[in-house]
Amino acid sequence: MNIIILGQPASGKGTQAELLAKKLQLAYLEMGDVLREIVKEKTPFGKKIDRIMHQKGVLVSDAIIKKVASDWLDKREALKGIVFDGYPRKLSQYQDLEEMLEARGMKIDKVIYLDVSDDTSVKRIDSRRVCSQCDAEYNLITKPPRKNQLCDQCQVKLNQRKDDKPEVVKKRLKVYHQLTEPLINYVRRKGILMEVDGERSIRAIHQDIMARLKQ
Ligand code: AMP
Repeated sequence: MNIIILGQPASGKGTQAELLAKKLQLAYLEMGDVLREIVKEKTPFGKKIDRIMHQKGVLVSDAIIKKVASDWLDKREALKGIVFDGYPRKLSQYQDLEEMLEARGMKIDKVIYLDVSDDTSVKRIDSRRVCSQCDAEYNLITKPPRKNQLCDQCQVKLNQRKDDKPEVVKKRLKVYHQLTEPLINYVRRKGILMEVDGERSIRAIHQDIMARLKQ
């Protein structure tokens, strides 16, 4: 089963995607993370992505995303399927992905849309922190580190992601509403959209998704 999880920044899609991947033993593609790994390599390709991701808070071009996704698909054996998190985010990316999957004898089975308000999104992002060393994610309110602002594993100071700063967040939300909402409408018309209330607890949402996938 190949599943896409959609939702605005901090809708909880990463958390739910990971839970789903574990439970159903699916491969897991988190596009934001894959891009950040490429950025860390500091190659010309990585630097180009860095400029777009961190300084502008806008989406990386379809051509780059298609190459990254295609390379990722080539490196993975996804016998039981894949959970896609943060990709595709717009109609053109969805169509590219459909094409790439079809070429590999696969298709998109379900698109899960985690619905949260802009208010919730902004509040969650404001308290999100990451470890600069191991990339572990924390939330100062819902998942705080054991020691004040230090990573539980590495004991180094936690940072706010550059694109989680308030001025970039505003832009990310605007981009989301402009580009991702048309994709949601498209998938709804196709009849493979599962709309999920993302304002509940992690556990309640996960159970809801699992129950509805079994139907
Ligand atoms: P995320 O970690 O999912 O919030 O993504 C962080 C940033 O990576 C976004 O603001 C974009 O600049 C870039 N990005 C992640 N996924 C995509 C995508 N599917 N298409 C274009 N850009 C993306």
